[in-house]
Amino acid sequence: MKRRIKVGIPRALSYYTFYPLWRVFLEKLGVEVIVSKNTNRKILEDGIKETVNDACIPIKVFQGHVLDLIDRVDYIFVPRMVSADGKATFCPKFLGLPDMVRYSGVSLPPLIDARYNIKGLPGGLFRFFRTVALAIGVKNPLKQAYAAFSAVIKQKKYQRLLLYGLKPVEAFEVISGSKNLPASKIKKFNPALDPTGRSRVALLGYPYAIYDPFISAGVFKNLKKLGVEVVTFEQIPLREMRRYSRVLPQNFFWYYSNQVCWAGLYLLNRKNIDGIIHVTAFGCGPDAMVDKTLELEAKTAGVPFLSLTIDEHTGQGGVQTRLEAFVDMLWAKRQKYRAG
Ligand code: SF4
Repeated sequence: MKRRIKVGIPRALSYYTFYPLWRVFLEKLGVEVIVSKNTNRKILEDGIKETVNDACIPIKVFQGHVLDLIDRVDYIFVPRMVSADGKATFCPKFLGLPDMVRYSGVSLPPLIDARYNIKGLPGGLFRFFRTVALAIGVKNPLKQAYAAFSAVIKQKKYQRLLLYGLKPVEAFEVISGSKNLPASKIKKFNPALDPTGRSRVALLGYPYAIYDPFISAGVFKNLKKLGVEVVTFEQIPLREMRRYSRVLPQNFFWYYSNQVCWAGLYLLNRKNIDGIIHVTAFGCGPDAMVDKTLELEAKTAGVPFLSLTIDEHTGQGGVQTRLEAFVDMLWAKRQKYRAG
């Protein structure tokens, strides 16, 4: 029997937003998809060794995930992420990612570095898929179209699940059929404050930072332990967030930065959060502006704001202490408000 081609997908960066799109497309072409392991200390340290010093932690981790795959696959999937909406671009580190990986000095399997630049749907998306298919030798246009169509359907389902409040890992399990969607999870974000009196916090940041428990030092788990309701930008419909693109004097150039900022403005405007936690990577250029904008907007709205900067030295203990202090403060503020 003919051996199936193995393509490795690093569990980092665009993985948290586009994994169902990549995976379903490749599988429908007959490829075996291998995902790198969950981020751990070794992956981070391997990535640090092969990356320039001043790179942010998500980039170092990405490099570590690439190294985790090299002996197990025929190709590694490292798309050049340019734009997902034809307006904003991804951060320059995403744009140069295939080159950064290729010239790291490590001997690698061939990279699939198709350019993801979705200006006009569906043409742009199909060009991307066609380049990926040709890179692994699948030339049949019908097969390509069928795989692309199936991938888009799964991706849309994935985005709906995120809107319902599932985290990426839970949503991946549901769409792969390995887990049923619990009925209790099917509830869209409700702007009314939680009647149980729990604090509600907007956890804002790039998906690859906040959803990777190693990078974020378990911020979700910690907030859950503290009994806090967490809202992320994926739970807000994009068309509603986008209205806030008109509020800022100028939008950011970067895709994720806009979404983080619009989500902050959306939630502040509805006065339905007790606080904002912004998870930001040390050395992130775009975040220098996003963080300041969110801080100023939160201050104007009288909403407490915590900026949580993460790097390779961030420890669970430090993050936990800061979260506990922040949540205590929110709770005290709410009690005072009620008493007054
Ligand atoms: S946006 Fe910031 S955190 Fe993300 S890859 Fe670029 S520099 Fe790194």
